[in-house]
Amino acid sequence: MKIGEMVKVSVQNRSAVLSTNMYPNEPKTYVYEGEIVKGPSWLGNDFVCIKTGKLDALDREDVKFVNLKNVISVNDSDFSFENEPAKSEDKIVMVTGSKGDQYTVTLKDDGTASCTCAGYGWRGKCKHIEQAKEK
Ligand SMILES: [Zn+2]
Repeated sequence: MKIGEMVKVSVQNRSAVLSTNMYPNEPKTYVYEGEIVKGPSWLGNDFVCIKTGKLDALDREDVKFVNLKNVISVNDSDFSFENEPAKSEDKIVMVTGSKGDQYTVTLKDDGTASCTCAGYGWRGKCKHIEQAKEK
């Protein structure tokens, strides 16, 4: 789903499926149709904003903030929200220096590396990184 796209989403009404729900007549799902618009910056990536074109009680154009985790279908196709694939973890390697000190080398998946030793701090490189890569 991208900004500007026209969509029809079915959203599960979380509270209606709870047995403790006090409003038994609430629909189990809501359907929103409209254009995806850019949401406010504080809105998380797991939300989309849909401008339904209808007016709310205050005559403002109605924009629904939809939690993607509650979306069950988009344009009549099943939908299930999956988080962005987790960023691969940096590889942390403990290296023992020539004087017996322990250093922590971080090998990142972009090929860069860092070390906690003073030499790395000065020069931006050190032998521990080479040792860590060999491990
Ligand atoms: Zn080092």
